Amino acid sequence: MVNLILFGPPGSGKGTQAAKLVEKYNLLHISTGDLFRSEIKNETALGLKAKHIMTTGELVPDEITVGMLRNKVLANPDVEGYIFDGFPRTIPQCEALNQLLSENSEEVTLLIELEVEDEEIVKRLLHRAKTSGRADDADESIIKNRLEVYKAETVPVSDFYDKLGKTVRVHGQGTIDEVFSRLSNEIDSTIVC
Ligand code: AMP
Repeated sequence: MVNLILFGPPGSGKGTQAAKLVEKYNLLHISTGDLFRSEIKNETALGLKAKHIMTTGELVPDEITVGMLRNKVLANPDVEGYIFDGFPRTIPQCEALNQLLSENSEEVTLLIELEVEDEEIVKRLLHRAKTSGRADDADESIIKNRLEVYKAETVPVSDFYDKLGKTVRVHGQGTIDEVFSRLSNEIDSTIVC
């Protein structure tokens, strides 16, 4: 199996690139942000818990997030691998993911971090708000909070996998195809090795 973590700040292009990568590598895309938005849309108890937190740009508690992710993985056992997008976002989430994969004698193959400057992120998210309808994309102070939460709580995830020799960093600016080709090169060289 190939178990990829597509990593980077909000607006770094994870969702866009994941959609292209799943086609090329035949993997299942799991975005915890999308899963939460679907729970909110369906007005589930989990959605109700996540809704307020998400509109502030803070993180949903690990216990809730990990439980939801676990259900999604366990419901899709017959895949060639996963692309995790927006997960893990904290060190306890890394530990939970390692535990979950190890139950199937699997492990994280690679974490690819998309590097994008803050200024570009704000521009991209405000632009995305026009079509995404996401309240957390439309307000600059919420975007700034999401970036702060990313730096404080989520950047350590990339270092966690770096210590295991599994992190690679890729320039996340340029055209969608340029970034896609950088990602594909990293994946191809890891899978071949
Ligand atoms: P995203 O679509 O990845 O930008 O996520 C939108 C929001 O969902 C985040 O700002 C968090 O409030 C919540 N969220 C998504 N993934 C996670 C996660 N792995 N851990 C905690 N909260 C998350």
